[in-house]
Amino acid sequence: MIVCKFGGTSVADAAAIRRAAEIIRGRLDRGPVVVVSALAGTTSALLAAAEQAASGNLVAAIATVEASRDRHMTAVSELLGDDAAAQEIAADESVMFDELAHLMEALSVLGHVTDRSLDAISSMGEQLSAPVISAAFARAGIAAVLVDSREVMITDAQFGRAEPQPEAIAAACRERIVPLVRAGKVPVMAGYLGATMQGVTTTLGRGGSDYSASLIGAAVEAEAIEIWTDVDGMLTADPRIVENPKLIEHIRFDEAAELASFGAKVLHPNTIAPAVRLGIPVYVLNSLNAAGKGTKITFDAPRMPVRAIAGKGNTVIVKVRSARMLAAPGFLRAIFDVFERNRISVDVVTTSEVSVSVTLDDDKHLDTVVGQLREFGDVGVERGRAIVAVVGAGLGDSNSAMAKAMTAIGDVRLHMVSLSATGINLTLIIDGDELKPVMRRLHAAFFDTETA
Ligand code: ASP
Ligand code: MG
Repeated sequence: MIVCKFGGTSVADAAAIRRAAEIIRGRLDRGPVVVVSALAGTTSALLAAAEQAASGNLVAAIATVEASRDRHMTAVSELLGDDAAAQEIAADESVMFDELAHLMEALSVLGHVTDRSLDAISSMGEQLSAPVISAAFARAGIAAVLVDSREVMITDAQFGRAEPQPEAIAAACRERIVPLVRAGKVPVMAGYLGATMQGVTTTLGRGGSDYSASLIGAAVEAEAIEIWTDVDGMLTADPRIVENPKLIEHIRFDEAAELASFGAKVLHPNTIAPAVRLGIPVYVLNSLNAAGKGTKITFDAPRMPVRAIAGKGNTVIVKVRSARMLAAPGFLRAIFDVFERNRISVDVVTTSEVSVSVTLDDDKHLDTVVGQLREFGDVGVERGRAIVAVVGAGLGDSNSAMAKAMTAIGDVRLHMVSLSATGINLTLIIDGDELKPVMRRLHAAFFDTETA
């Protein structure tokens, strides 16, 4: 069995859904289970409409619902024509849109939204997409069977970010998914949503369809999970900064997690953890280039000194200097306590005998924090810095990679340097305007075959 998840852009319209059907057709011998997102942009539109309705702008909210209705109806007629089966799907969709309109009216009367009602609304994106996709697959000659995610993806009642219940999910998969696959059918189910034991609809949080795919994959002990999206996979650097970055064909889970913290938006590693932990490989693939290799993510990939170069700007450094820190137990705890109290997450940390430097992603609550830190010593704030990271699980083992990185960065001013204990991430804090040139030089040093 394999789990194939199609993200929003891979099911955005009739043409995309047809491409998805061909991808599944090519995998029928592997027992595919299909998990789908909403048509691209639908979830955000529904959440925006809910906010509009609750703040008194019912007209705008209904207009959003109606625009979505048109879009879905267009997909239905392009994919299914208007025979009896198509009309039945269209009627079911229409009922769901009417329900959405009623929910919007209710919100406008109440004047506020609860997480529970937001889940009822935002989960509609997938509740609407899955039947259309399943019917389109059937029309394409695939033995697709729509499975109601609320009967499989059992969660607790934390609306908005419900916690999946793996044992209940595994039991439901044994009962509702596995027999279908054994009978040669292709289960198609909505990602992102689930339900409590009592049957109340929940969602797993934004971007949750990857999580759904990973949970189903873990429950059925799939041989692989495929995340179909609109990029070729993970790259050795951000293509907006570095010319011609290369496809990463195989990456370790922990490396992918490091890259995600730099905004590599392809997928969030936390969402695939349930599967990767069981040794199930996760592939990121491009539905617009189905023949591509994609990126394979596993717990263990061969260790390479450098897998990718990442970076981000707008970094703030906070430095605390204090003679009292010298051999004083509890000093670091006291400093980090300040950040914790102000709910600020610290990114990079370096220390010397008498100073601590940390980086922050933004300057929210910075004045308060600085005021509280002054209790411990002199506090300096430096804005406009940037972080560059050289990421690779084998980095710590390789003297030459480290030397190469240092040579490549050249004579730029280094404000902080840190090598993580696992040797997976060499992080350098530099001036913001050096970010792009330094990333380009590092990338060229490690990935341009002519110079490597
Ligand atoms: N449709 C949901 C969202 O946009 C879930 C997903 O696509 O992963 O957040
Ligand atoms: Mg997504």
